[in-house]
Amino acid sequence: MIYLDYASTAPIDARVAAKMFHFLTKAGAFGNPSSQHGFGKPARLAVEAARREVASLFNAKPECLIWTSGATESNNLAIKGVAEFYQRRGRHIITSQTEHRSVLDVCTYLMQRGFEVTFLKPTGEGIIEPEMVQNAFRDDTILVSLMHVNNEIGVIQDIQKIAQLTRERGILFHVDAVQSTGKLHIDLTKWPIDLMSFSAHKLYGPKGIGALYVCDNPKARLSPLFHGSGQEQNLRSGTLPTHQIVGMGEAYRIAKEEMPLELTRLQSLQNLFWEQLRDLPGVYLNGHPTQRVPTVLNLRFENIEKEHLMQDLESLAFSTSAACTAGNHLETSHVLRAMGLHNELAYRSYRFSFGRDTTEAEINQAVLLIQQSHRERRK
Ligand SMILES: *Cc1c(COP(=O)(O)O)cnc(C)c1O
Repeated sequence: MIYLDYASTAPIDARVAAKMFHFLTKAGAFGNPSSQHGFGKPARLAVEAARREVASLFNAKPECLIWTSGATESNNLAIKGVAEFYQRRGRHIITSQTEHRSVLDVCTYLMQRGFEVTFLKPTGEGIIEPEMVQNAFRDDTILVSLMHVNNEIGVIQDIQKIAQLTRERGILFHVDAVQSTGKLHIDLTKWPIDLMSFSAHKLYGPKGIGALYVCDNPKARLSPLFHGSGQEQNLRSGTLPTHQIVGMGEAYRIAKEEMPLELTRLQSLQNLFWEQLRDLPGVYLNGHPTQRVPTVLNLRFENIEKEHLMQDLESLAFSTSAACTAGNHLETSHVLRAMGLHNELAYRSYRFSFGRDTTEAEINQAVLLIQQSHRERRK
């Protein structure tokens, strides 16, 4: 099996796993980071060191990071938290039709509770233009929530420009940065973004840990989802999972250190893949051709039956639509449909994503299988 599904999840880097282990058993720092005795202290120090490592990847103040269980929770905390806290100021939220389900479904939930949501429709190439956001502003808009890089098509949104527009209007801006961390430069000391969601497992860290950046100047206010012992500035109660946090810290430290070289390598692997496929009749790239990260390609095979292609590519692990909705064959990608793609063509679209352990040999093997299938099955 060749793994080409890094946008769904990535294996934990061996260096990360090794570091995590030290915080699990009685031989290591297993204590509760909140405990005042000698077992709490080393755990607390490790948690704070990890907070600095994670914050440093996007140049944020460590004290602005709140640990969560992953980006689904970060997105819920950001959007529900702002909606509840600011509801007397206004009840209008702007997002897009191409967001992750953990944003879309929160917005739908809020609509049932009396909020109004504008779902912006992207261009045919999956772009949300800053003007679209500006044109949707209302006097009662309290929040804009958009992703930096789309998980299905790899397209990059101009969040820096959109942040300037929201800041000028005094509207809070939340960004889901799960697919851009470690792939794009982000500078939160310069970009006027109020809230940003992160996940460890898309960047070679453990599943079940993430973070929410909450800007402190001007201070973004949130109502918490969980009530309890008051950890994380009262925004996220619950005993801190030291091993998970340490794993996320180490994963982000490695990403920062190795990002420049790794991205160059991944770009050339992606080129190697696409250059060998792009001239096949009926094969197209979904999404903007250049405004994209070097790790995700969403391809459309217009004249091969899905069943045939899936059979021929059995030894490749890739995604037929967002992983969370996979298994439901009739439901095609909401992202591709929002871009105006016909249901039948969305159905024949596939996401290939590349990562740290992808090799040139794997790319060539994948290309070979696709070319073979195309030759034999094409109608
Ligand atoms: C994977 C993903 C999420 C969900 O993250 P979890 O940590 O798995 O909850 C949210 N947004 C995007 C863009 C993602 O790719």
